[in-house]
Amino acid sequence: ANPQVKGKTFTIGTDVTFPPFEFANKNNKYVGIDMDLIRAIANEQGFKVKIKALGFNAAVQAVESGQADGVIAGMSITNARKAQFDFSKPYFNSGVVMAVAKNSKIHKLSELRGKKVAVKTGTSGADYANSLKKKYGFKVVTFDDSNNMYQDVTTGNSIACFEDHPVMQYAIKQGTKLKIVTKPALNAPYGFAVKKGHNQALLKAFNTGLEDLKASGTYDTIKAKYLGSDE
Ligand code: GLN
Repeated sequence: ANPQVKGKTFTIGTDVTFPPFEFANKNNKYVGIDMDLIRAIANEQGFKVKIKALGFNAAVQAVESGQADGVIAGMSITNARKAQFDFSKPYFNSGVVMAVAKNSKIHKLSELRGKKVAVKTGTSGADYANSLKKKYGFKVVTFDDSNNMYQDVTTGNSIACFEDHPVMQYAIKQGTKLKIVTKPALNAPYGFAVKKGHNQALLKAFNTGLEDLKASGTYDTIKAKYLGSDE
């Protein structure tokens, strides 16, 4: 165990539903790559975690306001966020894709003119859509979680959504009636984050734990549990 964090309890904010990284299982327990990872690291480093599934934007804000000690929520490490947060070493690569209804003919940004596009508040997908909406002439509608965003597209209210590639792929595999039509953009890895200049012992413990889990093969086991062995 790590004497800097040993016996301490940290409040960790996360998304409400972002499989395969965090989601409630049948017993209403939060599982997924992020959840298994933070628990395994806590276990190895000797600290405890209190997981709070607040929603992505709320979790990020809870860390900023000091109501949570850290956030693990498939959070992309970006330069803009580095002004407010200190990030761990990266643990998973991701990027933003556009998805449309399974039977849709839309397959590129230039076909979005005059249409509505669904995004999740505070995400890189939302940033991406907002940076393109003027050029391509579409409207952006926001949701607090991924399920509601997908639903807005499957019901036909929005023509497309912007979501993280591994998450969209997983949802489609699980039966969400959408398809991915673009290559990943804004590629950036996920990291665990604390408020800038705060909770440095926790951040260090995360990095040490992550390194140990990678070395022992536990990190690969966690990934394989949710994604299969070929990812
Ligand atoms: N990776 C994206 C971001 O950091 C989305 C995260 C999420 O929706 N949980 O903004």
